[in-house]
Amino acid sequence: MQHITLTVTGMHCASCSSIIERTLKKQKGIEKVEVNNATERASVSYDERHISPTEMSKSVEPLGYTLHAEVEKNAAITVNHQKEEKLRELKSQWLLVLSALPLAAFSFLVMGIDVLVQFHFLPALPHTATEVVHHLLPLMATYVLFVVGKPYLLGVYRFFRYGKANMDTLIGIGTVAAYLYSFTVSAFAEPLSAYLNVEHTYYDVTIVVITFIALGKYLEARAKLKTGDAIEKLLTLQAKTALVVRNGNEVEIPVEQVVHGDKIVVKPGSRIPVDGEVVEGSSFIDEAMITGEPMPVEKKVGDAVVAGTVNTDGSLVFKATKVGSETLLAHIIKMVEDAQGSKAPIQALADKISAIFVPIVLVLAFFSLTVWLSVGTSYLGFSVALSLGLASFVGILVIACPCALGLATPTAIIVGVGKGASAGILVKDAATLEKLYKVTAVVVDKTGTITKGKPELVDVTNHSSLPNEDVLSVLLSLEQKSEHPIAHAITSYAKEHGIPKKEVAGFENMKGRGVTGTIGGATYYAGNERLVQELGILFDTSLLTSETKKGRTPIILTDKTHVLAVAYVADAVKDGAKEAISALHALGVSVTMLTGDDKNTAEHIAREVGIDTVIAQVLPEEKLKAVKELQSKGHVVAMAGDGVNDAPALAQADVGIAMATGTDVAIESAGITLLHGDISKLAKAIKLSKMTMRGIKQNLFWAFIYNLVGIPLAGGLFYPFFGWTLSPVFAGAAMAFSSVSVVGNSLRLKTKKL
Ligand code: ADP
Ligand code: MG
Repeated sequence: MQHITLTVTGMHCASCSSIIERTLKKQKGIEKVEVNNATERASVSYDERHISPTEMSKSVEPLGYTLHAEVEKNAAITVNHQKEEKLRELKSQWLLVLSALPLAAFSFLVMGIDVLVQFHFLPALPHTATEVVHHLLPLMATYVLFVVGKPYLLGVYRFFRYGKANMDTLIGIGTVAAYLYSFTVSAFAEPLSAYLNVEHTYYDVTIVVITFIALGKYLEARAKLKTGDAIEKLLTLQAKTALVVRNGNEVEIPVEQVVHGDKIVVKPGSRIPVDGEVVEGSSFIDEAMITGEPMPVEKKVGDAVVAGTVNTDGSLVFKATKVGSETLLAHIIKMVEDAQGSKAPIQALADKISAIFVPIVLVLAFFSLTVWLSVGTSYLGFSVALSLGLASFVGILVIACPCALGLATPTAIIVGVGKGASAGILVKDAATLEKLYKVTAVVVDKTGTITKGKPELVDVTNHSSLPNEDVLSVLLSLEQKSEHPIAHAITSYAKEHGIPKKEVAGFENMKGRGVTGTIGGATYYAGNERLVQELGILFDTSLLTSETKKGRTPIILTDKTHVLAVAYVADAVKDGAKEAISALHALGVSVTMLTGDDKNTAEHIAREVGIDTVIAQVLPEEKLKAVKELQSKGHVVAMAGDGVNDAPALAQADVGIAMATGTDVAIESAGITLLHGDISKLAKAIKLSKMTMRGIKQNLFWAFIYNLVGIPLAGGLFYPFFGWTLSPVFAGAAMAFSSVSVVGNSLRLKTKKL
C-alpha cells in the first residue's frame, strides 16, 4: 500500500472535489481518496501494482482536472513554485475579467435605460441607437460566453459527454440557455414575433452573469491565496545558508549540505540554520517565530537552539544535531500543511449536500421552467410566461452553485491552523480543532506540565550506617539509567559533586513506582511510598510529611529489607502556570491534576497554581481510568502530559495535548502540541478552536441561506403572492458575493486576538 499527496489543477468548487473522489475511487487499486478543495490537494492510498499516479491523473483528465505528484525536495522551492504558478493563473484570470467588465457595464446601462424608457422616465431612444445596441449585444455576449466563459462551456460539454456535472455545468447551462434563446429570437424575429416578445433578449444576462462570476472567482482565488500564507511565513524562517567550521575555516554552505555534528557559527543578527546544541559562547535568542515566546531566551553551552530562530547580540557556536527534515521547523511546516489539508467532520454535511446539489438543482430549474410554461401561460400568456420562466431557469442555475458551501469549512480551517502555528500551537488535524472547543475538563500531568520538569536535589536524609557519599553513589548509579525527570535531578547533582558511579546489573524501570538494579551483588530500589509498601518494608512515612508539604518529592532508597536514605527533589512551578489555570477556569473548564507523585507534594503544587482537584499516587493505567471516569460523567476531556508514561491516558482523552520542550516535538499521537511546553497556550488553543468553529458556522449559515432563499426566489415561488422574482443578473451577483464573503469571513479570523 502506497500513500501519495497530489496537487490538483482545474478545481473550481466543492462539487469538483467530490467528482474527483468518486472517479478515483472507482479505479482499481485505489483504497482511499481525500480531496481538499481549499488546498487543492488529493491524498490517495493506493496499491502500486494496479495503478500509478499518472494513471490516476489520466482517469480525471477528461473531466478537466490534472493531478501532479509533488517532488519532495525542498518544501520552500515547491511552495514558491506553486505560488508563482497561482499568481500567473490569477493574472490571466484578471485580464479576462478586465476585458469583460466594460461590456458588463455597458449591458447594465442598456438595461437601466430600457427600464427607464419602459416606465416613461425617459423618452424612447432613437431607432438607430436601439439598432446599434441590438447588434452590439449579441457580439459582446458571444465574446463573453466563448472566451471568458470557456470553463463553463466545458462544464456543459462534460455534462453531456460524461454525465458529470459540477458548478461550471450549472453556470454553463444557465448562460448558454439565455444565449441560445436570445440568438434564436434575434435570428427568427419575423416568424416568432407572432408568439413572443422578440424585443426581449437575454444577451445582457449572459454577459453580466459570466462577468460577475468570473470576477467573484478571481476575488475568491486571490483571497484564498492569502489564507495559506502561514506556511509561507514559516518557510521564510528557513535560513538558506549556514556558516560552518570545516578544517578550521569558517565556510558558508547551503543549508542542505549541513550534516550532523557540523560546528556552526552564528553571528549576531543571523538566523539559526538547523537544530543543535550550543558548544561555545552565549547569547539571547529570539524564538518568538517558532514558539510564540515574546522574550528572547538566554542560551549557554549545552542549551538547545532551534532552526528559524534569530540570534540577537552575542556570538555562538553550536553543534548540528538535527538537519533537513528532522528539524523542529521542518516538523512544524509538515504538521501545518497536513492539518490544513485535512477535513473537519463538520464538512461532511456540506460535502454530502454539494455532491447531490448539482443534479437536484438541474431538476429544480427544469421543473420551474415547466411550471412557468404550463401554469404561467394560462394566467400570463405564453410570451410573458416564457420570458419569466427562462429568467427563473437561469436564475436558479446561477444562484444555486454550491461554491460558498465548499469553501466555508476549509478556508476557516486553513486560517485557524495557521494562526495557531504562529502562536506556538500546533494542531494535528481539523478534527482535533473541531473537538477542542467542546472540552469541559482538562487533565494535566504534574511533572513537566505544571512544573518545569527539571527537579533539583535539595536534601538527603540518611537512615543507614553508611556514609552519605556511598548512599548517594548507589542512588546515582540506579538513576543514571532512568529517563524520568527525577533521575535527572540526581544525576546532575552527582555530576556537580563528583559522586562516583557503580556498575549496575539487571536495571529495571518499575512503572509508576521507581527503579531497581543490582550493585555488587545486592539489589537496591529507588522510588516512592508505594514501592516501599509493595516491598513490605516497614517505614514510618510520617517522617516524610514535613518535606512533602513543602512540595518536595521524596525518593526512597532501599535494599531488600531496609530504607537506606530519602532524597528530596524540588521541581519549580512553571512561569505562568497559575495564570494558565485561571484562564482555563475563566473558560468554564475544570482542571484536574494527575500525578504518580506523593499526595502532599502534589497538593502543595496544586494549591500554588490554583488547581482544585488532585489525584495523586496514581499508576499510569490509573491515569487512563481517571480520564475515562471524567468522560463517563459527560465531560469532554483534554489531557496534557509529557507523554513519557502517559501515552495511554493521552490516547484515551478526547484531545491529547503534548508539551514540546526544546527541539523535541510532538508526540505523534497528540492532537495538539504546545511549543515551548507552555501550558498557558492551552486556554488559547481552546479559544482558537472556538473562534474557528464560530467562523465555520457563520460561513455555513451564509452559504446555505443564499441557496435556501435564492432558489425559491429565483424560481418565482413568491411571484404569485408578491410579484417577486430574482433577475438572473442579481443571482449572478449574489452568487459571486457569497463565495467572496465566505472567504473574507475566514480571513477575518486572522486579525482576531487569541
Ligand atoms: P508523574 O509523571 O506524575 O511523575 P510517573 O508515573 O512518571 O508519574 O511517576 C510516578 C512516581 O514514581 C514518581 O512521582 C516517583 O515517585 C516514582 N518514580 C518514577 N520514576 C522514578 C525514578 N527514576 N526514580 C525514583 N522514583 C521514580
Ligand atoms: Mg510522567
